[in-house]
Amino acid sequence: MLINDLARARVDLAAVLRWSARLGYQTGTCNHFSFMVQGRDDVFLVNPEGYFWSEVTASSLILCDLEGEVIEGDGTVERTAFSLHAPIHRLNTAARACFHTHMPNATALCLIKGARLLPVVQEAMMFHDQVVYDDNYSGLALDVAEGERVARLIGNKEVIFMRNHGPLVVGRDIGEAFYNLYYLEQACRLQLLAMQSGQPLDIVPDSRARPVMEAVHSLNGYGETFLTAIKRVLDKEEPDYRQ
Ligand SMILES: [Zn+2]
Repeated sequence: MLINDLARARVDLAAVLRWSARLGYQTGTCNHFSFMVQGRDDVFLVNPEGYFWSEVTASSLILCDLEGEVIEGDGTVERTAFSLHAPIHRLNTAARACFHTHMPNATALCLIKGARLLPVVQEAMMFHDQVVYDDNYSGLALDVAEGERVARLIGNKEVIFMRNHGPLVVGRDIGEAFYNLYYLEQACRLQLLAMQSGQPLDIVPDSRARPVMEAVHSLNGYGETFLTAIKRVLDKEEPDYRQ
């Protein structure tokens, strides 16, 4: 089931930001998670400038339009959030949720010359044919043209590795995008760990990786189940995220 309610989207986006803070995915007060609510192709939710993800609440999320104007909320939207996320939402309305982090393991893979996410573990096979690579670092995403370039590169895929920078992940709803984000980081962690052994990696052929990706995508509501579990824990341990 896809999310179509703004109030619920606020709660869900605050939940995955809080959970990502626990997992150590945030760098300073940088990086953004955004979500374009179903039926509203002109506005998106995003975390406010200058706040840790651990202190975000449902009501503190900013609703802004595709020109960066704040529609709802007291805070401001950071410039790179707008220039990177708005073009992706504008050019690919199927990518309702768009999460960018500098989480350590997926980012580390962006720093190795020519590195690719390899089908050596199931968590990586989930992303078979869903990853694109931007091998040309072009500095901070300070203008919309850079966001448009990234949006065109990612196309209808789920993940882009931006060289010398970090990953960006999209999904049809918040649960799906967060599921992708979490398992991408785990796949990269395991691949890097295996690489550190210095032993040859056991890469499976595409014919064995593809069914894993197809099986995961055929699971109905796989992201929703994950998100529900996250909210269940947060409801006990830090329920103010719903405020
Ligand atoms: Zn970044």
